[in-house]
Amino acid sequence: MSRFYLTTAIDYANGDPHMGHAFEKIGADAIARYRRLRGDDVWFVIGMDEHGQSVQQEAERQERDPQEWVDEVADRFRVTWESLDISHDDFIRTTEPRHEHAVDALLEKIQAAGDIYTARYEGYYCARCEAFRKEAELVDGRCPLHPNRDIVWTEEENYFFRLSGYRDRLLAHIESHPEFIQPPSRRNEILRLLEGGLDDISASRSRVPWGVPFPGDPGHTVYVWFDALPNYISAIGYPDEGFEAWWPAALHVIGKDITRFHCVIWPAMLMSAGLPLPETVWAHGFLMIGGGKLSKSEAQLLDLERLIDRHGPDAFRYILLREAAWDSDRDFPSVEAFLSQFDTRYEADLANDLGNLLNRTVSMINKYRDGSIPIGEETELDVACNEAIEAWIEAMDGLRLHQGIEAGMSMVRSANAFIDQTQPWKLAKDPEQVTRLDAVLGSLVRALVRTAVTLSPFMPGKCEEIWTRLGGDGKLPGVDSIVERLPSRIPDSAAGVLFPRLEA
Ligand SMILES: [Zn+2]
Repeated sequence: MSRFYLTTAIDYANGDPHMGHAFEKIGADAIARYRRLRGDDVWFVIGMDEHGQSVQQEAERQERDPQEWVDEVADRFRVTWESLDISHDDFIRTTEPRHEHAVDALLEKIQAAGDIYTARYEGYYCARCEAFRKEAELVDGRCPLHPNRDIVWTEEENYFFRLSGYRDRLLAHIESHPEFIQPPSRRNEILRLLEGGLDDISASRSRVPWGVPFPGDPGHTVYVWFDALPNYISAIGYPDEGFEAWWPAALHVIGKDITRFHCVIWPAMLMSAGLPLPETVWAHGFLMIGGGKLSKSEAQLLDLERLIDRHGPDAFRYILLREAAWDSDRDFPSVEAFLSQFDTRYEADLANDLGNLLNRTVSMINKYRDGSIPIGEETELDVACNEAIEAWIEAMDGLRLHQGIEAGMSMVRSANAFIDQTQPWKLAKDPEQVTRLDAVLGSLVRALVRTAVTLSPFMPGKCEEIWTRLGGDGKLPGVDSIVERLPSRIPDSAAGVLFPRLEA
């Protein structure tokens, strides 16, 4: 059994969870569930980034104590992840003592390596990005990502991290480890950035009290990214014994907008502290609607709770990962276009193709075999399903989640076409076709179980339901034990609708 430590970016505690947060959690959750199905020992961590200027300002605006405010925000995120069936093993918060302890220890290592010095910072700081911005990066005098916000000129005495000293080592690592930054488009961006040279960066702030005190100088707090990135090691117990059992991480899942922090600053911090680098940083694209510019009323239509309620959490997970390729962007022209596609896929893929397949199969076995599931010979459907599982494994190993879903759904389409071709209702009338009917019915059940297993990373609740309705015992089998664990009898309680149809 191999260990697979998987993380997402921790979410910034200055607002409510939205579709972008959900997209990342759902994708990472599908990967975690897939690895468990393959028999890996998985540790899956998500969490909250709770310090920094922007959180401090938000708490001030709300006239709240910052700790009280982040506690409340963290609760809202936690409830959302629960409603979406995210199967994380830990939820790390950067205001926890275990985290502050780790940041302290890591910065002391970096200091001891001679990579910290004091200097004066003069330049711009975007509180929304929590990032220092060079004059050349500004567009019309504002942060390129936050054109509606004023950017603040900042002059302060800071501790600096000697990032520039790591450029050559980073380049060498990225060049010799093509798997380190994925997909390749992101890797190329970072290579270009490094080829342009690296400046040292601030590691502390002197006017932002809401943060971890800088080791040895309580007049400073740790710059929020230097505080946030170590969550990946604090969550598994750094610097205490046992942390090496999970480190280095197999995979950091992040958004494509924070690659510079994860593929340049974080690995340089680790190198400075003498720690190994994560195996892979995967930067997913964005699912956008109207280019990301929405009116208030449009944004309300995309309220997460409403979207999850629309067709249930599994359908929501399905639509996001089915529509947006995990390695690129997807932009819907409008909210209406997104919702209409959501309804169409729900009706066509889930209610019709998958829901009907289950119903037809269960009712034929009840009718022709009195609920007893025949084994029968292998058919052309078994062959098609075995090929689909191979395609699924290849796609999921390569983190092409959209292709993984496609492989699972291809079995559903094959099985429906197989019913139309073999016409079991005709076979049932012909006593000479008993063996053939057994083979057809048995392979339909196998197709459904294989579908349930392969789609379970995406729709865990509904896939368990398919398994139970077919008479499966306990939890869904892993990929390698499907054949040994096939159900033998449709339970009496199998009736009901998997995906209720939309009201006309
Ligand atoms: Zn910004």
